[in-house]
Amino acid sequence: MKTSIPNETIGRLFPYFRALMCLIKEGKDTISSYELADLCNLNPAIIRKDFSYFGDFGKRGVGYNVSNLMNTIRNILGLIPLKRVALIGVGNIGNALLLYPNFELEGFKIVLAFDNQSTKIGRKINGVTIEDVSYLEKRLKSHKIHLCILAVPESAAPVIAHRLAKTGVKAILSFSPCQLAMPDNIKVTCVDLSTEMARLVYYSSREIFSEIRSLQGKTERHKKVSI
Ligand code: ATP
Repeated sequence: MKTSIPNETIGRLFPYFRALMCLIKEGKDTISSYELADLCNLNPAIIRKDFSYFGDFGKRGVGYNVSNLMNTIRNILGLIPLKRVALIGVGNIGNALLLYPNFELEGFKIVLAFDNQSTKIGRKINGVTIEDVSYLEKRLKSHKIHLCILAVPESAAPVIAHRLAKTGVKAILSFSPCQLAMPDNIKVTCVDLSTEMARLVYYSSREIFSEIRSLQGKTERHKKVSI
């Protein structure tokens, strides 16, 4: 296996994995790089180049064995065994995450859930009992947790993140739109839906404006020609 794998290749592995999972559900055994490219909206040459970093997966003229390829990518991504996840905050977002049916197929399992509301503590969602956040440190120490998801209000996120850092957690996914100041050895990703929506709206309106401007330009040129 070559040592330096481009970041873009690593970023495409999970979409490949997901596409292959869908193909397995549809009962497909083999797939060509053209078909996979079509599914992932990519150029087949990019797919072949990506896979070449990890060895020779396919057979010329036959294509890739879907199940072998999916398992290989799952291994490369380190999704075996399942990565254990702790969720902190079981509001609307936390609840939806607990009910999401595909995490296990995709390599993740929420094994612990915490909240500070007495009406929620003790309730069971999808096999996971919501526990009192006061016991966070103690419970995280007794389970080997790979990733914590923060779905608490913005005001509570820094304190909880700080508590998590002290337990030795190395990866945090936060749904709170705030910057969490964490030590360098802890990876934090914030899912900020409003920022992403604002970005999309900005770019889509710019496209509309540039279309309007180009239409105006054409009309002006047409007027000059007509004069
Ligand atoms: P969501 O943002 O998930 O839609 P919501 O509007 O239902 O949530 P929020 O006020 O954002 O509720 O809180 C999310 C969850 O986090 C709630 O279940 C709340 O009880 C819980 N929560 C709030 N503060 C803490 C805390 N310090 N520790 C643990 N859980 C908390």
